[in-house]
Amino acid sequence: MLFPSTVAGSLPKPAWLAEPNKLWPKWRLAGDDLAQAKLDATLLAIKVQEDAGLDIVGDGEMSRQHFVHGFLEFVDGIDFANKVEMGIRADRYKAMVPVVRGALTLKGRVHRAEAQHARAHTKKKLKITLPGAMTIADTVADAHYGDRARMAMAFAELLNTEARALAADGVDVIQFDEPAFNVFMDEVPTWGIEALERAIDGLKCTTAVHICYGYGIKANIDWKNALGDEWRQYEKIFPALAKSRIGQVSVEVIHSHVPMKLLSLLEGKDVLAGVIDVATDTVETPEEIAGVIKDIMQFVPKDRIVACTNCGMAPMRRDIAEAKLAALGAGAKLARERFG
Ligand code: ZN
Repeated sequence: MLFPSTVAGSLPKPAWLAEPNKLWPKWRLAGDDLAQAKLDATLLAIKVQEDAGLDIVGDGEMSRQHFVHGFLEFVDGIDFANKVEMGIRADRYKAMVPVVRGALTLKGRVHRAEAQHARAHTKKKLKITLPGAMTIADTVADAHYGDRARMAMAFAELLNTEARALAADGVDVIQFDEPAFNVFMDEVPTWGIEALERAIDGLKCTTAVHICYGYGIKANIDWKNALGDEWRQYEKIFPALAKSRIGQVSVEVIHSHVPMKLLSLLEGKDVLAGVIDVATDTVETPEEIAGVIKDIMQFVPKDRIVACTNCGMAPMRRDIAEAKLAALGAGAKLARERFG
C-alpha cells in the first residue's frame, strides 16, 4: 500500500496519568496503580491512532516520563543520586545529568509490559521507539568508559538486547530516536552509524531512526533560529545513513527549513516524512498533507514514502493531537487516491 501512515513516537498523556502539556511530567499515581494506568493509557493511544486510520500504530510512549531517561531507569552502572552539570547537544543547553560509574548492564526488560499489551490489543502493525545510543551518550556523563564512542557502543549493546526482545514480543517496527545525529555530524559517519547498526544487529523486523531538530524547549527554538534559512545538517549525515543497514529514516518535512531535495540523499531507504507540524496547534488539512506528499514525490520514490509526524506530540493538547492524527490518516488516504 502506498503512503502508509504512522507517528514519530509520543502522544500526549491523559491528565489522570501525568501532568499535561509537559515534556517531563510528574506521574499522578504510583506503584501498581501507575503500572495499570500506563497500560490503560497505552490502549487509549492505540484506539485513537486506529480511529484516525493510521496504518502503523505505537504505544504513544505512555509508559515513559522522558524518551531517554525512560530507558536509563532500567540500566545498572549509572549513578542518579549524584548528578553533574553537563552541556547537552554541543552545549546548546546545560542539564544536570546522571553519571556512568561502572559497566553498563540491563536490570531487565524495559518496554515489555506496554509492548505486549499493545500487541494483544491491535491487529495493526506495531511500532516501539527507543532512544539512540549517540543521543543517550550525550545525555549522561562518563566516569567509567573514558571515551564517548565506547560508552555509546555499550549502550548500543543494551538497546540491542531490548530491541530483540521487543521483536520477539511481536513488534513490527523498532525505531531509535537520534536528535544528536544532526549535532555531531562529523561523528555520525564514524561511530554514530556503527552504534546504530550495533543496536539493530540481528533484528528481522523493520528498523528506523528518527532524526530531529528538537521541539518544545526554548534552547531548541533559539538554536533553530540561529541556523539560518536553509538547514543543511542532513546533507552531511544522509549519505552515511543511505549506506547503513537501517531500514527507515524519520525526518521533519512540513514547515521545515530543511531543503526538501536533501531527501533524495536517502536513496534506498523508506522515508518517514513529517507531514504534521508538532510545533503549531493549527491542524493541517488532508488537502495540505496530500500536497506535501506530492512535493516529496519529486525526491523520494512514492513506494518509499511513509506519512508521519515531524516529531513526537507529547507536550501538545490532546484534542489538537487527536485532530492532527485524524488529518494525517485522511491526508495519506487522499494522497493514495490521487497519486496511487
Ligand atoms: Zn523528534
